[in-house]
Amino acid sequence: MPELFIDGTWRDAADGATREIRCPADGRAVATVAEATASDAEAAVLAARRAFDHGPWPHTPAPERAALLHRLADRLEQEKEEVARLESLDTGKRMVESRIDVDDIVSVFRHFAGLAQADAGRMVDTGVPDVVSRVVHEPLGVCALITPWNFPLLQTSWKVAPALAAGCTFVLKPSELTPSTAVWLVRTLADLGLPDGAGNLVLGAGARVGPTLTEHPGVDLVSFTGGLETGRRVMAAASGTVKKVALELGGKNPNVVFADADLDAALDLALAAIFLDSGQVCSAGSRLIVEESVHDSFVDALVERAGRIRLGGPFDDDAQTGPLISAEHRDKVERYVATGIGEGARLRVGGSRPEGPAYDEGFFFPPTVLDDCHTGMRCVQEESFGPVLTVETFTGATREETEDAAVALANDTLYGLAGAVWTQDAGRAERVAARLRHGTIWINDYHPYVAQAEWGGYKQSGIGRELGLAGLDEYRETKHIWHNVRPAPQGWFDDPSESEQG
Ligand code: NAD
Repeated sequence: MPELFIDGTWRDAADGATREIRCPADGRAVATVAEATASDAEAAVLAARRAFDHGPWPHTPAPERAALLHRLADRLEQEKEEVARLESLDTGKRMVESRIDVDDIVSVFRHFAGLAQADAGRMVDTGVPDVVSRVVHEPLGVCALITPWNFPLLQTSWKVAPALAAGCTFVLKPSELTPSTAVWLVRTLADLGLPDGAGNLVLGAGARVGPTLTEHPGVDLVSFTGGLETGRRVMAAASGTVKKVALELGGKNPNVVFADADLDAALDLALAAIFLDSGQVCSAGSRLIVEESVHDSFVDALVERAGRIRLGGPFDDDAQTGPLISAEHRDKVERYVATGIGEGARLRVGGSRPEGPAYDEGFFFPPTVLDDCHTGMRCVQEESFGPVLTVETFTGATREETEDAAVALANDTLYGLAGAVWTQDAGRAERVAARLRHGTIWINDYHPYVAQAEWGGYKQSGIGRELGLAGLDEYRETKHIWHNVRPAPQGWFDDPSESEQG
């Protein structure tokens, strides 16, 4: 079955090209999908443009848009196991994690279904007689939605759900490595009655189809989630036509542990922060910043537990974390570890590929800890996007100096996506959280997020609260309508002599 969905029709790529998708855990072929050309991407943009300019979706009443999103959420609940299986086969992640992702996706669609009907605008009391003045929100237009491979359908839902809730039309381009759940999503939306052209799907390599989506004058918004370098290219490409741009980029996220923390909880969550999903999480706690007085005992215990984490594929019930997404990505993580060691970091655990028949065909890499790190090192500044934790320490002569030292380290990064602070001193927790320049801060926790709260990066981690989880603003234009209900000549340029005569 062809997998490009353009203007309500399933198609093959214009040049017939295809791509084989293999499970990163064992190399088995799981799907063969169409690999779109630039002309396919162009056709998808034109279809979305027609659907926005002439189709029914932007004018569909908000309760109907909301109902579609709820029906999609219902389908996800009914087909949860199948969607989780598709996600796990493409990504190699454990089924238990994919099931959690599906639950999150359901709540994202339901949340935006609610927002579709909220905040229709407001009246403005201008004080001017005979004027009715109001602010209204309108769908922004055609959205190019470009997503990564680490949480394929979750990242996609963060874009598709608000776009549809706001009344936009879209062209979705998921990562070329993980297309299967995007195909499921678009097929299900069409099945549930989304009008032709309102939702289009283009599969393929970013270099092949990306520039068409980011440069085309028919696109109004590019919403992109991915790496920093690609984000910079996307922003530059979109500048030619001054598109709205939303970027969710990488992170190099500090996990700050003070000596007065609940250290058992901090240790447990420090492991989860970096080793869940093999560290392939934008908000992963990849920098452990620990107070010097507890460094040795804390890091010894962490290293010991990291060394016992079991690796395995999606359907291995004993596995605690999975493989990396591809051979290329594993090579990159390995180079990153070698660079860190070359810079003077001390390898405490992991660092080389696991051996044995269970790992031969997959792209596994073990939990790895690099100790004795500092902010001058590339391994502390650059995102590995793998299961690699760097450890830095801080200390100070006074309470204030200790906090200052921790905050200075945690903010010494060009990223600003997320971070955590661990302490049992509530005042210290709030003081430090307030000073961390990162978009999400967990206090005595790591990783939870909710659909009702905003998500977005400070500094070079992004532009805008792209998820718009707290609102639809990224996907709407806001317009002030001033209505003079008693129009009459105002005489600005009347000839004064005429009025004198009159
Ligand atoms: P990537 O930048 O390589 O690719 C992301 C998407 O962009 C893919 O669909 C890719 O095909 C496409 N793309 C590539 N070149 C393009 C171009 N020139 N024009 C348009 N599109 C192009 O990222 P990835 O490796 O898929 O994902 C990992 C990255 O995503 C990490 O840096 C991670 O931190 C980030 N991420 C961020 C968040 C967040 O919420 N901030 C969430 C998940 C992932």
